[in-house]
Amino acid sequence: MKKFFSVTLAIVMLLSTLTMFGCGKATGLDAIKKAGKLTMYTEAGFAPYEFVYNNEIVGVDIEIMKAVADRIGVELEVQDTNFDAIIGGVQTGKVNAGAAGITITAERLESVDFSTPYTQTEQYVILPAGNTTIKFAEDLAGKNVGVQNGTTSDLLVEEMISNGKMAGATLTPYNTPAMAAAAIGKIDAVVTDKLTAEIIINNNEGLQAFPLVNSDGTPVAEIEKYGICIAKGNEDLLAIINEVLDELIAAGKIAQWEQEYSAKATEVGA
Ligand code: GLN
Repeated sequence: MKKFFSVTLAIVMLLSTLTMFGCGKATGLDAIKKAGKLTMYTEAGFAPYEFVYNNEIVGVDIEIMKAVADRIGVELEVQDTNFDAIIGGVQTGKVNAGAAGITITAERLESVDFSTPYTQTEQYVILPAGNTTIKFAEDLAGKNVGVQNGTTSDLLVEEMISNGKMAGATLTPYNTPAMAAAAIGKIDAVVTDKLTAEIIINNNEGLQAFPLVNSDGTPVAEIEKYGICIAKGNEDLLAIINEVLDELIAAGKIAQWEQEYSAKATEVGA
């Protein structure tokens, strides 16, 4: 009996060790409370959702995650990284969450879980102000198009090049949409999310932006919805994020922050 007990105990201990260390770092709610901080990845070149203001990363996503950290009762730690490193970093438990104006897509849902959507966007094209020849997606055929690396804009332009809609176009990836826009002149156009495109043209007199549509007037892609991502299987953390988001949305806070931070971004030319 004693032997049976100790074997059982050994198995239980082995199993709990495997659960703790076997699947990467612990990212659940208990681990966050124990650490006293909620860690998140963002990419701070995406105003109004995240950008640098007075040497600090601020924006809509940061406000949302601060509210989540407050609800858990811990500090928020924001870590800046490249956009295309966010999903993988969250998936492998390098941080607890990713908030970066991230569109919820079927492909990304294979790697991470997403919160309920908190805002939506569509694809915009940025062009030199005087350009009158590029009106539709098809007009970008043969042109050099800039995008932010690893974004839905990147994937969309790549797809339109390979399916012939933008036949012969060249795709150039940049670290941020603003860096891509700064290269206009050297490149012909930039494709990015709506609000970010609007802020970029507010900050740059020589540019214009409008929705990217097909020549038959249909949108080039479905409306995109932004969500917060976390590692799969953290139901308790996801429930808190969703609860906080539901309250913020109902109180009109997301729309209010989108306006406030768009103004702040324009103020500092972010
Ligand atoms: N919404 C886009 C995406 O998820 C772009 C996000 C971003 O550039 N930060 O791919």
